[in-house]
Amino acid sequence: MSGVTFELKATDGRARTGVIRTTRGDIRTPAFMPVGTAATVKAMMPESVAATGADILLGNTYHLMLRPGAERIARLGGLHKFMNWDKPILTDSGGFQVMSLSDLRKLTEKGVTFRSHVDGSKHELTPERSMEIQRLLGSDIVMCFDECPALPADRKRIEESMRLSMRWAARSKDAFGDRPGHALFGIQQGGLEPDLREESAKALQEIGFDGYAIGGLAVGEGQEAMFACLDYAPGQLPADRPRYLMGVGKPDDIVGAVKRGVDMMDCVLPSRSGRTGQAWTRRGQVNIKNARHSDDPRPLDEECTCPACRNYSRAYLHHVFRAGEMISGMLLTWHNLHYYQEIMAGMREAIAEGRFDAWEAAFHATREEGDIPAL
Ligand SMILES: [Zn+2]
Repeated sequence: MSGVTFELKATDGRARTGVIRTTRGDIRTPAFMPVGTAATVKAMMPESVAATGADILLGNTYHLMLRPGAERIARLGGLHKFMNWDKPILTDSGGFQVMSLSDLRKLTEKGVTFRSHVDGSKHELTPERSMEIQRLLGSDIVMCFDECPALPADRKRIEESMRLSMRWAARSKDAFGDRPGHALFGIQQGGLEPDLREESAKALQEIGFDGYAIGGLAVGEGQEAMFACLDYAPGQLPADRPRYLMGVGKPDDIVGAVKRGVDMMDCVLPSRSGRTGQAWTRRGQVNIKNARHSDDPRPLDEECTCPACRNYSRAYLHHVFRAGEMISGMLLTWHNLHYYQEIMAGMREAIAEGRFDAWEAAFHATREEGDIPAL
């Protein structure tokens, strides 16, 4: 790897723990990456994101290229300086969001042309332009430009799309060039078809990448189908490189993915849920809007050490949500991100000590107990 290395420290079953070393710091794996879509993890100060235990966050190429613009961020010293986050940043390629958010898309061999969902302006994204944007942002881990069809899709569509993504992966590698201190990850596609996933994994390894993502999941197939794919997909990728499952997920999705050999994940869920009054706790999901919390002096989670649980009651969290106060989103997002990082830390320790199965059983048992009874 070009100045970015992966050290696998221990495995337990198929679960792995290790560390990705970058010039901006170490990323302990399995790692959860909070999503900083528009150069901010919504409702969080960057130092608070770091305080939850996050070693790395994800930035979105699509959003940043449209607003404020990659060239502008580069002129202002790059994304780390712009958003005051000095740890590693992974940027996606923009491909997925072009397909899901923009209007009037036109897909060709060359790339995608589309209109911005912000102001209707016309843009083109190609493997070469995606590499240029991610270089301008100063991303530590750059993702190949790819195309990902929503599931369900027929096999022919998945096959054609995967082969286009592999041609784009080769162009991404050429355009990325030699950039010491920065890593380029390839993205496996192939939907839920094992042979297409295998073909994709082989094509990527022939090109050669610093890490490998499993793309095209968490796009509507459901947990059972996703886990069935993860029963074989990570094993098709090199064991000595990080494996990144894109866009996942709920706490039990994350645990199931790590169990199957995934090292990195990202999802908007903990931060988005925090803004809509949804908390994720070791006892499952808690809806703070619910009237049962209005007189409850107890914390959201008695065992949690985050500021929302240490310093505030359920009654307060309920009140500020109902009153539309900004601190509501701030506290619940902090709690959710803290809880996600606690899951990751728990798994890393359990894998290192060879007791992942016991950890996983306890994780599910506590969730099944459900939230504490109302007062
Ligand atoms: Zn908490």
